[in-house]
Amino acid sequence: MKRAGGSPTVALNAKGIRMKEEGIDVLSFAAGEPDFDTPEAVKAAAAEAIRRNDTHYTSAAGTIALRRRIVRKLWEENGIRASEDGIIVTPGAKPALYAALMSFLEEGDECMVLTPAYPSYRSGILMAGAEYVPVPLRFEDGFVVTREMLEAKVTARSKMLIVCSPCNPTGHVLTKREVHDIADFVLEHDMLLVSDEIYEKLIYDGREHLSFGAIPEISDRVVTLNGLSKSAAMTGWRIGYSASSPELARVMLKMQQNTVNCTASFTQFAAITAFDCAAETERMRQSYLERRDLICDGLNAIPAITCPRAEGAFYAFFRIDWRDMSAGELADTLLDKAGVLVVPGTAFGEGGEKCIRMSFAADRASLQEAVRRMRELFA
Ligand code: PMP
Ligand code: GLU
Repeated sequence: MKRAGGSPTVALNAKGIRMKEEGIDVLSFAAGEPDFDTPEAVKAAAAEAIRRNDTHYTSAAGTIALRRRIVRKLWEENGIRASEDGIIVTPGAKPALYAALMSFLEEGDECMVLTPAYPSYRSGILMAGAEYVPVPLRFEDGFVVTREMLEAKVTARSKMLIVCSPCNPTGHVLTKREVHDIADFVLEHDMLLVSDEIYEKLIYDGREHLSFGAIPEISDRVVTLNGLSKSAAMTGWRIGYSASSPELARVMLKMQQNTVNCTASFTQFAAITAFDCAAETERMRQSYLERRDLICDGLNAIPAITCPRAEGAFYAFFRIDWRDMSAGELADTLLDKAGVLVVPGTAFGEGGEKCIRMSFAADRASLQEAVRRMRELFA
C-alpha cells in the first residue's frame, strides 16, 4: 500500500463535488461517469427484487441467472465462448481488475501497461507487489501501439499485459492490426492479458470493438473485464464482471470469497434487465457523440489546443501548448483562472505530458461555457 497511489480521478471528482457544495463556481469535468440516469426498467427490476426479499447473499461468483445472461452476451456480442464457471460477478469492474492482479501477479513479476492508462492499473500492480512497466504511446501517433514498442519493454519476468479499448483516457480504439499484434505478442512471450472492455458500447464513426477473448489461440490466457457502469449508466450500483477460463476464475474466486463475498443481490437481479437495454445505450452513445463534436470543434478553434476526436469512451484528451506549462500546471491554471476542473494527462502516466483529460459526459451548456472560458484564458 505504501507504493500505491490514491486514484487521482476519484480524488479530483471528490474535489469538484466539495467545491460545488461550498458554493464555489466550478465546472467539473474530472469524473469519468455517465450523466444519464439508470434506465427505468432496471430500477423497477431492483425494486421488485427487494420486495421479493432477494436480499440475501448470493453465491460468491454471482447468481446462475446473471452468469448465464453474461455468457450469452459474451457469445452474441463479443464472440467469446465463456461458461458459467468462467464468470465472476463483482461490485464494479474495479474489484474484478484487482482480483486479477492479486491472483496472478507476485513479487518479481512485471506487468506491462499501455500508457496513458487508467490510474488504478498501476496502483493495483504495485499493491500486488509486482513491478509496473509502462509502454508509453505517443499523442502524435494517435496512441497506436506497435509490436516494436511492446518488444522493447519485455523481459524474462514479464507476466501480464493490461490493455483498455476503447481507452480511458485517450479514447483510442485498438485496430485489427494492433489487436493481432498484441495477441501474437502475449502468446509468444507466454503472458496473461487483461482486457478492460468497459467502454465497448461507446464507440464512434463506425469503428468496431474487438475482444481478445474471442481469439482462439489466446482465449485461455485472457481475462476480460467489463460491467454496466458505462453501458447502462449504473456506476453507483456497483456491478461488473470478469470472464476467463474456469481455471483462472477458480483462482480469482478465492479473492472474491475472502473480500467482498458477493455483489449486492438486488443489483445482480437488476443487471439481467440491464443487458436488454440496448436502445437506451444507443441513445446515450448518440448523445455522447454529439457532445464529442461540440467540445472538439470548440477546443480546436483555440490556437494553443489540439483536440483529436475520441474514437470511443467519453473523454476529450487534448494537448495544450501554452507557456511551456506541464500538464499539472495547465490543470491548476484551468482551475484557478477559469474554474474548470479537469485531470492532467500525466495522472495517466507517461505519454500524457502537456495533455488534459476532460469528460464530455456533461451538459452542453457547461461544455460550451468551459470552451468560452478556455478561449478567454489562452487568448
Ligand atoms: N476500467 C476503466 C478504464 C474505467 O474507466 C472504469 C471506470 N472508472 C473502470 C474500469 C471501473 O468501473 P466500475 O468499477 O465502475 O465498473
Ligand atoms: N471512470 C472514472 C474515471 O476514470 C471513474 C473513476 C475511477 O474509477 O477511477 O474518471
